[in-house]
Amino acid sequence: MAAPINRGPLSTSNVFYYVFTLISLYFSLDVVGTVADDITDFLLCRKCGHEIVRASQLINFPSKVALKQRNSTLGGVPEILIQQFKNPHGAHFEIITTIKADVIEDLQKYSDDTWFPNYSWWITTCPHCGQHTGWTYRINSKVTSTDGQPEEFYGLVLDNLLDLQEAESLIHFPKAYGF
Ligand SMILES: [Zn+2]
Repeated sequence: MAAPINRGPLSTSNVFYYVFTLISLYFSLDVVGTVADDITDFLLCRKCGHEIVRASQLINFPSKVALKQRNSTLGGVPEILIQQFKNPHGAHFEIITTIKADVIEDLQKYSDDTWFPNYSWWITTCPHCGQHTGWTYRINSKVTSTDGQPEEFYGLVLDNLLDLQEAESLIHFPKAYGF
Protein backbone atom coordinates (compact mmCIF):
# COMPACT_ATOMS: atom_id res chain seq x y z
CA MET A 1 0.00 0.00 0.00
CA ALA A 2 1.26 3.53 -0.90
CA ALA A 3 2.36 5.86 1.88
CA PRO A 4 -0.23 8.55 2.76
CA ILE A 5 0.38 11.92 1.05
CA ASN A 6 1.43 14.66 3.41
CA ARG A 7 -1.17 17.42 3.01
CA GLY A 8 0.14 19.52 5.88
CA PRO A 9 1.36 23.13 5.65
CA LEU A 10 4.16 23.86 3.18
CA SER A 11 7.56 23.17 4.62
CA THR A 12 10.55 25.30 3.68
CA SER A 13 11.90 22.54 1.44
CA ASN A 14 8.53 22.25 -0.34
CA VAL A 15 8.48 26.00 -1.04
CA PHE A 16 11.99 25.82 -2.52
CA TYR A 17 10.89 22.87 -4.64
CA TYR A 18 7.86 24.74 -6.06
CA VAL A 19 9.87 27.91 -6.73
CA PHE A 20 12.59 25.88 -8.45
CA THR A 21 9.98 24.08 -10.58
CA LEU A 22 8.36 27.35 -11.66
CA ILE A 23 11.72 28.91 -12.56
CA SER A 24 12.66 25.77 -14.54
CA LEU A 25 9.37 25.85 -16.45
CA TYR A 26 9.80 29.55 -17.20
CA PHE A 27 13.24 29.05 -18.71
CA SER A 28 12.49 25.79 -20.52
CA LEU A 29 9.16 26.80 -22.07
CA ASP A 30 9.16 30.53 -22.41
CA VAL A 31 12.45 32.38 -22.56
CA VAL A 32 14.65 29.83 -24.34
CA GLY A 33 11.88 28.85 -26.77
CA THR A 34 11.14 32.45 -27.76
CA VAL A 35 14.78 33.44 -28.25
CA ALA A 36 15.52 30.31 -30.30
CA ASP A 37 12.52 30.96 -32.58
CA ASP A 38 13.67 34.51 -33.22
CA ILE A 39 17.27 33.83 -34.10
CA THR A 40 17.30 30.58 -36.06
CA ASP A 41 16.80 32.26 -39.43
CA PHE A 42 20.01 34.33 -39.58
CA LEU A 43 23.00 33.83 -41.82
CA LEU A 44 26.18 34.84 -40.01
CA CYS A 45 29.61 36.10 -41.03
CA ARG A 46 31.62 32.88 -41.20
CA LYS A 47 34.68 34.61 -39.72
CA CYS A 48 33.20 36.39 -36.66
CA GLY A 49 29.56 35.25 -36.28
CA HIS A 50 28.03 38.69 -36.92
CA GLU A 51 24.39 38.49 -38.09
CA ILE A 52 24.61 39.58 -41.75
CA VAL A 53 21.15 38.75 -43.09
CA ARG A 54 17.80 37.28 -42.05
CA ALA A 55 16.99 34.34 -44.31
CA SER A 56 13.44 35.70 -44.66
CA GLN A 57 14.87 38.78 -46.45
CA LEU A 58 16.55 36.77 -49.21
CA ILE A 59 15.15 37.27 -52.71
CA ASN A 60 15.59 35.23 -55.87
CA PHE A 61 16.95 37.53 -58.56
CA PRO A 62 18.17 35.45 -61.52
CA SER A 63 20.94 36.81 -63.75
CA LYS A 64 21.40 35.95 -67.41
CA VAL A 65 25.19 35.94 -67.00
CA ALA A 66 25.27 33.35 -64.18
CA LEU A 67 27.38 30.28 -65.04
CA LYS A 68 25.21 27.94 -62.96
CA GLN A 69 22.06 28.18 -60.86
CA ARG A 70 20.74 25.89 -58.12
CA ASN A 71 18.23 26.03 -55.28
CA SER A 72 18.78 25.20 -51.63
CA THR A 73 17.26 25.67 -48.17
CA LEU A 74 19.04 28.39 -46.19
CA GLY A 75 18.17 29.49 -42.66
CA GLY A 76 15.08 27.29 -42.84
CA VAL A 77 13.81 29.06 -46.00
CA PRO A 78 13.40 26.64 -48.95
CA GLU A 79 14.09 27.26 -52.66
CA ILE A 80 16.71 29.98 -52.26
CA LEU A 81 18.41 30.69 -55.60
CA ILE A 82 22.20 30.25 -55.51
CA GLN A 83 24.05 31.51 -58.60
CA GLN A 84 27.63 30.93 -59.64
CA PHE A 85 29.63 33.72 -61.28
CA LYS A 86 33.22 34.22 -62.46
CA ASN A 87 35.06 37.53 -62.02
CA PRO A 88 37.55 38.91 -64.62
CA HIS A 89 40.42 37.35 -62.60
CA GLY A 90 38.92 33.87 -63.01
CA ALA A 91 37.70 33.48 -59.40
CA HIS A 92 34.36 31.71 -58.96
CA PHE A 93 31.74 32.83 -56.41
CA GLU A 94 28.42 31.38 -55.34
CA ILE A 95 26.06 34.26 -54.64
CA ILE A 96 22.71 34.67 -52.89
CA THR A 97 20.69 37.87 -53.23
CA THR A 98 18.89 39.86 -50.54
CA ILE A 99 16.98 43.10 -50.21
CA LYS A 100 18.65 43.95 -46.87
CA ALA A 101 21.99 43.11 -45.27
CA ASP A 102 24.03 44.44 -42.35
CA VAL A 103 27.24 45.21 -44.23
CA ILE A 104 29.56 48.19 -44.86
CA GLU A 105 29.76 49.50 -48.39
CA ASP A 106 33.00 50.67 -50.02
CA LEU A 107 33.00 54.18 -51.55
CA GLN A 108 34.30 53.04 -54.96
CA LYS A 109 31.54 52.52 -57.52
CA TYR A 110 31.99 50.09 -60.43
CA SER A 111 29.84 49.88 -63.54
CA ASP A 112 31.89 47.50 -65.72
CA ASP A 113 31.96 43.70 -65.41
CA THR A 114 28.65 43.65 -63.57
CA TRP A 115 26.95 40.29 -62.96
CA PHE A 116 23.56 42.03 -63.03
CA PRO A 117 23.09 44.01 -66.27
CA ASN A 118 21.90 47.62 -65.71
CA TYR A 119 23.25 47.59 -62.13
CA SER A 120 26.43 49.20 -60.78
CA TRP A 121 28.20 47.62 -57.81
CA TRP A 122 30.11 48.44 -54.65
CA ILE A 123 32.22 46.02 -52.56
CA THR A 124 30.78 45.25 -49.09
CA THR A 125 32.40 43.94 -45.91
CA CYS A 126 31.32 42.68 -42.46
CA PRO A 127 30.88 45.68 -40.09
CA HIS A 128 32.45 43.70 -37.23
CA CYS A 129 35.54 42.00 -38.70
CA GLY A 130 36.02 43.45 -42.21
CA GLN A 131 35.62 40.12 -44.01
CA HIS A 132 34.47 40.48 -47.64
CA THR A 133 30.72 39.72 -47.71
CA GLY A 134 29.84 40.55 -51.33
CA TRP A 135 28.50 43.57 -53.20
CA THR A 136 25.73 46.17 -53.18
CA TYR A 137 23.94 46.53 -56.54
CA ARG A 138 22.14 49.75 -57.50
CA ILE A 139 20.16 50.21 -60.70
CA ASN A 140 21.70 52.70 -63.17
CA SER A 141 19.77 55.97 -63.20
CA LYS A 142 19.44 55.98 -67.01
CA VAL A 143 17.38 52.75 -66.84
CA THR A 144 13.75 53.81 -67.01
CA SER A 145 11.86 50.55 -67.47
CA THR A 146 12.68 48.50 -64.38
CA ASP A 147 9.98 45.83 -64.78
CA GLY A 148 9.53 45.60 -61.04
CA GLN A 149 13.24 45.00 -60.47
CA PRO A 150 14.58 46.27 -57.13
CA GLU A 151 16.44 49.59 -57.23
CA GLU A 152 18.96 48.20 -54.79
CA PHE A 153 19.90 44.76 -53.50
CA TYR A 154 22.86 42.85 -52.12
CA GLY A 155 24.79 39.89 -53.48
CA LEU A 156 26.38 37.82 -50.69
CA VAL A 157 29.16 35.25 -51.05
CA LEU A 158 27.70 31.99 -49.78
CA ASP A 159 31.13 30.62 -48.75
CA ASN A 160 31.64 33.59 -46.41
CA LEU A 161 28.37 32.98 -44.55
CA LEU A 162 27.36 30.43 -41.92
CA ASP A 163 23.81 29.17 -41.60
CA LEU A 164 22.90 29.59 -37.92
CA GLN A 165 20.71 26.48 -37.97
CA GLU A 166 23.66 24.51 -39.33
CA ALA A 167 25.97 25.97 -36.67
CA GLU A 168 23.53 25.15 -33.85
CA SER A 169 23.30 21.54 -34.98
CA LEU A 170 27.08 21.27 -34.50
CA ILE A 171 27.20 22.89 -31.05
CA HIS A 172 26.08 20.92 -28.00
CA PHE A 173 26.30 22.69 -24.66
CA PRO A 174 26.81 20.49 -21.59
CA LYS A 175 23.51 20.12 -19.66
CA ALA A 176 25.17 21.64 -16.57
CA TYR A 177 25.17 25.02 -18.38
CA GLY A 178 21.37 24.95 -18.40
CA PHE A 179 20.93 25.25 -22.18
ZN1 LIG B 1 32.58 39.28 -39.55
